[in-house]
Amino acid sequence: MFRFLRRNNPSQKARNRRRPAAALSGTALVLLGFLMLLWIALVQTTTGEITGTLQVHFLDVGQADAIVIQTPEGQTMLVDGGNAGDAKYIIDYLKKLGVERIDHLVATHPHEDHIGGLRRVVETFPIGKVYMPRVVHTTATYENLLLAIAEKNLRITPARAGLVIEVDPELEVEFLAPVGEDYRSLNDYSAVLLLTHGEVRFLLTGDAETTSESEMLASGRPLQADVLKVAHHGSNSSTSPSFLEAVRPRHAVISVGAGNRYNHPSELILQRLAQAGVRIWRTDQHGTIVATSDGATVTVKAEKN
Ligand SMILES: [Zn+2]
Repeated sequence: MFRFLRRNNPSQKARNRRRPAAALSGTALVLLGFLMLLWIALVQTTTGEITGTLQVHFLDVGQADAIVIQTPEGQTMLVDGGNAGDAKYIIDYLKKLGVERIDHLVATHPHEDHIGGLRRVVETFPIGKVYMPRVVHTTATYENLLLAIAEKNLRITPARAGLVIEVDPELEVEFLAPVGEDYRSLNDYSAVLLLTHGEVRFLLTGDAETTSESEMLASGRPLQADVLKVAHHGSNSSTSPSFLEAVRPRHAVISVGAGNRYNHPSELILQRLAQAGVRIWRTDQHGTIVATSDGATVTVKAEKN
């Protein structure tokens, strides 16, 4: 474009062979900059996908986890995929949102209630990157997920504390756990994600238990978040008083099945959250829960009130 403009202004060029060219290059650059800004503005207003907001959907998948994240610039992340029987609900939900591709897929840890539906998700959608903690689990569900990933020639990026994902210029995504490499409980391998959108932060904890919580606290990384996905379906294995104090959430989301055999969520954890003045949202009572951030404030809406 620069050369094009210079060539099409021969009268000035004829007057002086050096100085006007320099002046023109400035003009051309200003024009180029203006046109680029105009182009970006037009593209943003015509695609209809770029909302500028961050949306985090906590899907009602019963006693399991499945979280869909839609970034301000229209990228999609999926954190966990419920049980095997939830695959259809998750896939239909994504399609209803207009999702055609999952840019980042995170399996927090290899338990069935977090990866059960992921095989069909991987088979259904084009997938960008896959993140999983470095631990194996000898179940058919886990094996089938790895086979589906291999079938699509995808590679797994090990999820570990300190890893930052380049998702969207307006959204910072960082793994806070696992900090260590060897745990007694498979839950403590859980990938924990901190999403930062302007001043609004979400902490997604998988099923991380108090061992992992202590490590996150010891790491010195600020844990404060506006929305906390309560770890391990509200079990008293997690959400220790010191961890909750460090996170200081305004909203807590518990992904849990009605009448589940584990008696989740624990009364103790519900009381602890209530005493801390946290607004509690439960998928067994509220259905699918959607938290929307504009970068300054967060609003939470539920399917059932
Ligand atoms: Zn779980």
